[in-house]
Amino acid sequence: MNQPHSKPETYVLHRSSLAIPPRAVRGEGIYIFDQNGKSYLDASGGAAVSCLGHSDPAVRAAMHAQIDQIAYAHSGFFSTDAMEELAEDLVTHAPEGMAKAYFVSGGSEATEAALKMARQYFLEIGQPDRKYVIARRQSYHGNTLGALSVGGNMWRRKQFEPLLITASHIAPCYPYRDQMPGESDAAYGLRVANELETAILELGADSVAAFVAEPVVGATSGALAPVPGYFKRIREICDQYGVLLILDEVMCGMGRTGTLHAIEQEGISGDLQTIAKGLGAGYQPIGAILVSKKIDDAIANGSGFFQHGHTYQGHATACAAALATQRTIRERDLLANVVRQGELLADGLRERFGQHPFVGDIRGRGLFRGLELVADRETKDPFDPARKINAKIKKAAFARGLMAYPMGGTIDGVRGDHVLFAPPFIVTGDDVARIVDLFELAMNDVFTAEG
Ligand code: PLP
Repeated sequence: MNQPHSKPETYVLHRSSLAIPPRAVRGEGIYIFDQNGKSYLDASGGAAVSCLGHSDPAVRAAMHAQIDQIAYAHSGFFSTDAMEELAEDLVTHAPEGMAKAYFVSGGSEATEAALKMARQYFLEIGQPDRKYVIARRQSYHGNTLGALSVGGNMWRRKQFEPLLITASHIAPCYPYRDQMPGESDAAYGLRVANELETAILELGADSVAAFVAEPVVGATSGALAPVPGYFKRIREICDQYGVLLILDEVMCGMGRTGTLHAIEQEGISGDLQTIAKGLGAGYQPIGAILVSKKIDDAIANGSGFFQHGHTYQGHATACAAALATQRTIRERDLLANVVRQGELLADGLRERFGQHPFVGDIRGRGLFRGLELVADRETKDPFDPARKINAKIKKAAFARGLMAYPMGGTIDGVRGDHVLFAPPFIVTGDDVARIVDLFELAMNDVFTAEG
């Protein structure tokens, strides 16, 4: 047995070995409390997860009830009421054309399964040459190797490049940096969407399987929404060339932007759509793929077996938690609150930071809002990454009892900083005001110290 001479401070291999995080010992509403009784206002929902806060009674009761019946039954042997009812609930409220839900345990697993399902679809319909995947620069689809391969964030990919599968990347829809002076939203949307057509033709129209995109980009770009018409053109191009459209709503989905699915605001649907994070509100780890009828039919009428699977897929307690989460959101009309408080948050951020010398853009939808930080508002020059501005803001906010989600690599995966806000859907106007106040104090702490 391993007998260390002196007991280390922790046996956990934490994300960073530079500092051990405080212990979360209790959750109440939108607050988390640590072992010293310090409270943290969760203005980021962790990473856009905890949409019902940390103590929802309905979700906890549903989980208890499920555990009392059966906590887990392997999906290779059984279905469960929880899994069946959750799938029905999700498909009933899904974007047009979706027929089934395939369960997994998180966002990366959802991306992996969607990529494999797209590939298998083409085998089922007799188009085995279709194997390439196109995605966008400045995107994140998960940290497992397949998901990392399609993601376009260089910082996350860099050291694992030799292990990644080939994927092509086109420009993101990023008006703050790419739209030309005088160019209309419609013209800009068309210009960047048409990069997909160019990439398809370069790879060979009959060899592309799928295009993957987040309708509103989260972790890599800070709530970056598309211009109107962009996704309509993307859908047209996919249809024209027989390419599947995979929408990654792991972060922006399940109500975060004010509609249950972010893509509803673009007036199209995908062929596959991944969801996770807000699906189970963090009470249990769960993700899913919404599967369109054409893909479901192709597999059902072909081999009849999706060549994939995970031990915990469709976990009964996770499904029960997700079902209770989704019912609670509807019963309490929380999407209306997302829209209402989202506008308040946007107004507060614009009022407090609209003229801030280091805030270049304030963007987002619903309770999914971001600030892009710049060293110079005129030139839009980013901060030198070595200054680690985003990490300093996270630390200053945390010290003041605020969880915000600052990230670097906003522009090309290396340069640029942003801050993402994704508070629980249950926030009040007072909570929103407190978020803005605390964040302003944190920004002052950092920029006063930085000079
Ligand atoms: N896709 C998107 C858009 C995400 O934001 C994330 C996580 O942040 C993932 C996929 C991966 O999800 P997970 O961390 O649950 O594997």
